[in-house]
Amino acid sequence: MTNPLKERLIAKIKAEGPLSVAEYMTICLLDPIHGYYPTRDPLGSDGDFITAPEISQMFGEVIGLWCIQSWQDMGSPQTVQLIELGPGRGIMMSDILRAAQLDKDFLAAVHVTLVEASPALEAVQAKTLGDIPCPISWAASLEKAPKGPAIIIGNEFLDCLPIRQFIQKDRFAGRAGWQERMVTLHGETLCFGVSPAAISEGLQATLPEAQEEAKTDDLLEICPASAQIVDQIKQRFEKDSGRALFIDYGPEETEFGDTLQALKRHEKVGVFSDPGNTDLTARVDFGALVELAKAAELPVTTAVPQREFLSKLGLEMRAVALSRAKPESKEKIARQLHRLTASDEMGELFKAICFQSEGLGLPLGFREMA
Ligand code: SAH
Repeated sequence: MTNPLKERLIAKIKAEGPLSVAEYMTICLLDPIHGYYPTRDPLGSDGDFITAPEISQMFGEVIGLWCIQSWQDMGSPQTVQLIELGPGRGIMMSDILRAAQLDKDFLAAVHVTLVEASPALEAVQAKTLGDIPCPISWAASLEKAPKGPAIIIGNEFLDCLPIRQFIQKDRFAGRAGWQERMVTLHGETLCFGVSPAAISEGLQATLPEAQEEAKTDDLLEICPASAQIVDQIKQRFEKDSGRALFIDYGPEETEFGDTLQALKRHEKVGVFSDPGNTDLTARVDFGALVELAKAAELPVTTAVPQREFLSKLGLEMRAVALSRAKPESKEKIARQLHRLTASDEMGELFKAICFQSEGLGLPLGFREMA
């Protein structure tokens, strides 16, 4: 399918000037008519990328156990909002709720809320979760999700939130040396450029501490939308108990470098090659998330590799039990386990992080609070 979004973007830049990388990402991913997510189901082997819950049911199942434990840690409230951000095809939620049958009291307490930007995926979720044994609803944002004690989860959600990019043009100027990388035109072709002016002092203040280490021409990314999510979690957890678990790809500490990438049919392609028809993501900066949480006095764990997190949740034992129950699938299950945990697959690159309300102990699967 050819996508008129490229022509629309070129016309927009001609009329209004360059776009920030975040504006470019937002239009490409979420434009209601030609954007990537609203117009398709991008997941699975026939799609553009595959995620952990799509690889194996074991992933959602052990996270289901994590949810039960978290609910117990919160004092087993009579009602708990189980809120998923960016639920894709709803597979993880379905696996979580199947595992949750181990604790009928938990299941009786759960109200599911899904926060999904894509009407196409919302329809798929409604189908996948058509016969779950608890109330379910959709909310336009985390802020609009029902109040009360909550367990919030997001797998590969933060990586599709729009990032802004800055380049250090004069390291001796410190924060004032950063200039924004923009999406602009070379003739009729989309390309990157750099805004000639330094960024505003307000924006300078939002850069992570690591900016101090930058050399001239280093590139730094920030994700204002994930900062907003941290803020909303803080507001929520001030009033009601809760935990928020995010799993995504990215480094434990802030690193410099351009990580914006486009994927089509499981291959990397140019970020300007086919706007609206390719998935765009960027690495999640877990170091910056910890910094934001600490500044907001929101309890947060250090980020741990997916392999360690899943292993502490009993993934290997789950694989053994599943293989016993389905001996004909033993090799397939071993392959799935490998994809989720091997260091040359998702095991090291992907990390888990957890934010929580005051007064809860260390969540299952983590090493320490940050
Ligand atoms: N969690 C799923 C899907 C990951 S893909 C899985 O692991 O398989 C990213 C998901 O986030 C999609 O469902 C996408 O439509 C949704 N999404 C992207 N940007 C969003 C936003 N700003 N608000 C809500 N959902 C968003």
